[in-house]
Parts: sequence; structure tokens; C-alpha cells
Amino acid sequence: MTFALHGTPVSNGIAIGKAVLISRAALEVSHYLIEVGKEEAESQKLLDAFEQVRLELAQLRKGLPKDAPQEMAAFLDVHGMILSDPALTEKPLTLIRTQRLNAAWALTTELNDLLEQFAEIEDAYLKERANDIRQVAERVLKALNAQKKDALSDSDLLSPSDVGVDAIIVAHDIAPHDMLRFKEHAFTGFVTDLGGKTSHTAIVARSMEIPAVVGVRHASEMIRHGDWLVIDGKQGVVVVAPDDQLLAEYRLLQAQDIQETRKLQELKYSPTATVDHVSIELLANIELPEDATQAVELGAIGVGLFRSEFLFMDRKQALPDEEQQYQEYRRVVDLMQGLPVNIRTIDVGADKALGAGSDLSETGTSPLGLRAIRWSLTEPEIFLTQLRAILRASAHGQARIMIPMLAHVKEIDETLRLIEKAKQQLHQRGLAFNPDIQVGAMIEIPAAALVLPLFINRFDFLSIGTNDLIQYTLAIDRADHAVAHLYDPFHPAILNLLFSIIDQAKRANIPVAVCGEMAGDPSMTKLLLGLGLTDFSMHFSQLLLVKREILKADVGLLKSRIAAVLQAIEPEDQAKALHKLLS
Ligand code: PEP
Ligand code: MG
Repeated sequence: MTFALHGTPVSNGIAIGKAVLISRAALEVSHYLIEVGKEEAESQKLLDAFEQVRLELAQLRKGLPKDAPQEMAAFLDVHGMILSDPALTEKPLTLIRTQRLNAAWALTTELNDLLEQFAEIEDAYLKERANDIRQVAERVLKALNAQKKDALSDSDLLSPSDVGVDAIIVAHDIAPHDMLRFKEHAFTGFVTDLGGKTSHTAIVARSMEIPAVVGVRHASEMIRHGDWLVIDGKQGVVVVAPDDQLLAEYRLLQAQDIQETRKLQELKYSPTATVDHVSIELLANIELPEDATQAVELGAIGVGLFRSEFLFMDRKQALPDEEQQYQEYRRVVDLMQGLPVNIRTIDVGADKALGAGSDLSETGTSPLGLRAIRWSLTEPEIFLTQLRAILRASAHGQARIMIPMLAHVKEIDETLRLIEKAKQQLHQRGLAFNPDIQVGAMIEIPAAALVLPLFINRFDFLSIGTNDLIQYTLAIDRADHAVAHLYDPFHPAILNLLFSIIDQAKRANIPVAVCGEMAGDPSMTKLLLGLGLTDFSMHFSQLLLVKREILKADVGLLKSRIAAVLQAIEPEDQAKALHKLLS
């Protein structure tokens, strides 16, 4: 039966393919397709794991002390019976043999199906058996993980083999670093239950340039492994089991979309200026050094935001040392061929967790907690290591330091002191760096915006992180789908705050950019131009779309109409003023 699900659109384009369902415990369990011919060996692995758990339980049962509670023996008996029931192995074995799912994936797929069926049962006793099944399956999964041959490296999390047609990942949630890992593999789309437009998972999905819809609430429960799906990344719609007519319509839209993308390429080489000859700077946001290649190809005149934390977020690896970081930063600087590169110092915490192998104090998941520069200042050795690596890269090009989430003058002073210390350390080691390296601050906390002169006086450039500025001004967690509808870039408070920051920076003659998602949203381009913005930093996939808007814009006219937008507090007044501005 055809039905549609709605969520938050995060990445343009249309994807058509079959659902690859990642279970809730997905990223704890390896998911990959086994090689052709290895089906029987994989089936045997599953049977061995069952046998191993059966033996373990039998031993436990035998060794039960005489005075052990009766329930204990009964409990082990029930688990023993579940293990011996061929029904639990039957479907996973079929999945391994026909769809080449690895053993752990096949078992979790079956487990989820069973749990769903149990959830519908009214009888309380039978309902309780769901827990027994879960516990048994988890024991078997543990046994599977313990089999060395099945213990996968992260890169095997999902291997690229196709599933017969284009595959679309459907998951409850995907952590940003796992999303990044999918980048190496050939998937045509993503659907997740959780997440908002500017959650880091969404940002990484966008950077992969494939259609994605997040915050689709119950998608992972309603979509079945192998269902045909259409994802409309622009409208935020997921069509499940589309009929032939719908499929044909979407294929047409997909073709038009591809055509439009091709046409956009023609804009690559023209200068970026408005009709009234105001020159605009387009910079790129990148998560990985290799993204810089495409940024240059698409005409970015620098990297406005290199989210360096993605180098630190591999769950199994220790943190990269100074030399490894230096090599990565240098790679970006080299790829950018003399153009500026703003290396944002590590911004972990909130929805971005550090590598588990790092053995470091917890950053926590609250966006109000120990995040970004706050965390760096509690780990001065790690911070100094990163600063030295960036400084060393500055000997080869225009590497610049950009600090996230500053609010307090104490934080600024301490940060600048540590930058000087890092310079001294390199000097003592006789290593080259640019002593006049530019240091910039992100303006992403309302408090910083409200005392902007503090930042203007101490930094070489500013970059407005609208994703966080909106989050903190409107007091909504940007990764929480429950409040995603309140995430409103058009809120008059946001527009006035943006105008104030840009205006003050321009008057003080200090460069100011916007590097939040707003800068890459073509429907916002004219508004930002009207607010006086001339430096836009965005994911490279958005560069030409935004450029097309710039080429059509008249900044003089937009600026003359912006006062009405800023003064409009009532929604109807704002709608009228915006309509006039954008018409
Ligand atoms: C922002 O907050 O707007 C920003 C660009 O940084 P991030 O999205 O990485 O928090
Ligand atoms: Mg931010």
C-alpha cells in the first residue's frame, strides 16, 4: 500500500530506491553485505553463536546452587527453549542466504519484527516474553561480536555492495560521525526518525549531496527492509511503496532536477556580483580535508568553516596527534592554493561526541553544556596541540584560527593567551608558522552578539554561526525534532540581531561572514543581502544555487526595503514587508 511520511527536508534532490533498515541498536551492531559465496559460512557463524549461548546457559543451569531461587532455573529454561526454537534462526538464515545480510544484521532484523508483533499482544504474560526474546538475541549478538572474524573495523560498518538497486538508509537516528562514514559508500538517500534541519547529522547528510529527510518520527517503524521508497529532499516527503504512476512522476521530477543542476554549472566561472555591481564573497564549509577539492572547483574563494572536530570523532581511534592534525590542515591549505582557510577549533559536545578511544572527560550532550571552546579550555593540552598544528599549517598558506562559542571575556583572554603560548612552543622547537596568523571568533551566542565591540576589539574577523545563534536565542535544541517547528530564522529577534552584528562589524571595518545553514539557503540570500551581508560561507553543494540568486539581486533596492522588515513585529506586517523585499 502506498503511503507518505513527512519530515524535515535537509538535502535537495529526489532519490528512488529500496529501504535498507538500520535497527535502533544499529550502530552498535555491524551492518554489511557479505560477499557472494560466503552465505553458508555466515549462516554457520549464526548457528555457532546460538550453540555457544545454548552451552553457556546449560552450564549456568547445571551450576545453579541448591538454594538459588526457583525462578532462576525457570528463567534459564525459558531462555533455553527460545534458543532451541528453530523459528528464531529460520528467518535470519533466510536473510543471510537470500539478501546476504551479515549474521548480526539478520538477527536484529528478525528481532525487531518479533518485538513489533509482541507489542501488539494484549496478554500481559505473553507480552513479557518479548523481553526474554530480546535478552536471548542480545546474548547471541554478543557471542557473534566475540567471534573474531566477525569483529569489524569501523570502515566495514556498511560495505558498498549494492542491494540489487539503489539503497536508501532508514534509521531511528544516525550520529554525525557515522553519517560521515557512510560517505564512502554508495547510498542514494537517508531517512531518520530524529533530527532537525540544522542538526549535525543533517549538515553532514547535506554535505554528501544526497537527498535526505530527517525528523520523520516513526519512519523506522513504518518502513520495512526492502520497501521501495521515494525521497523528496526538497519537500521533506518520503513515499513508501509508490505505485507506478507516482514513480513515473518522481522519475520525471528527478530528471528535471538533474537537468537544473547541470545548467547551474554554467555559473561556475562568472564573477559573483549583484546587478548593481556589489561584489560578494562565497566561501565553503567543509567537514573533511578532501571536500576542499570540490569547493575550489565550484568557485569558492576560501574555506569559511572547516569543522575540524570531524577529525576527532572516530569512535574507535585515539585523538590525532599534532603531526597528524598538521598533515590534515596542511592538506586543506594546499588544496585551497593560497586561498584563506578558517580552521574552526574543535567543537565537540551537544550532538557531536568525541572518539570513544580518546579516554577523555565526557563532553555531555546538552547544547548548554561543556561544548566547543568551553571544552577546549578545560583540556588545554589538547587545545594547544591543535593550535600548534594549525599554526604549522599557516606556514604553507592562509590558515586562520576560528574559535567557536565564545561568550565571556575571560574565555577570549584565555584563548588568546593559549594561542600566544602555542606560538612560543613552536618558536622554541624552531618550527615555521605565520606569527601574524589571523584569529576570528564565531558569533553564535546571543550574549556575544549583544557585546560585539568586545569581539571587534580583539579579533581579526567574525563569523556568525546562525545555527547556534538561532538555537540559543530561541531556546530550542536544534537537534530535537519535537521543537523543530519553533526553529525560525525569520523570527524578528533573529533578523534584528543579525542586522545589528553585520552593521556594527561593517562600521568597524572588520570582515564578517555568516557560516550557518542560512547562508547556503537560496531562499534566504536576498534577505541576507538586504541585511548588508557580503560574505557567505556554505556547503559547497549550495554555492551555485546561492550564486544564481546573487546575480539576480539588487542590493541597493534590498537595503532600502530592509527597515520595514526589521520593524515588523506582527506576523502579517512581517509577511508583507518580506513579500515586498523579495518581489
Ligand atoms: C553554526 O552554529 O551556525 C555553525 C556554523 O557551527 P555548527 O553548525 O558546526 O555548530
Ligand atoms: Mg555552531
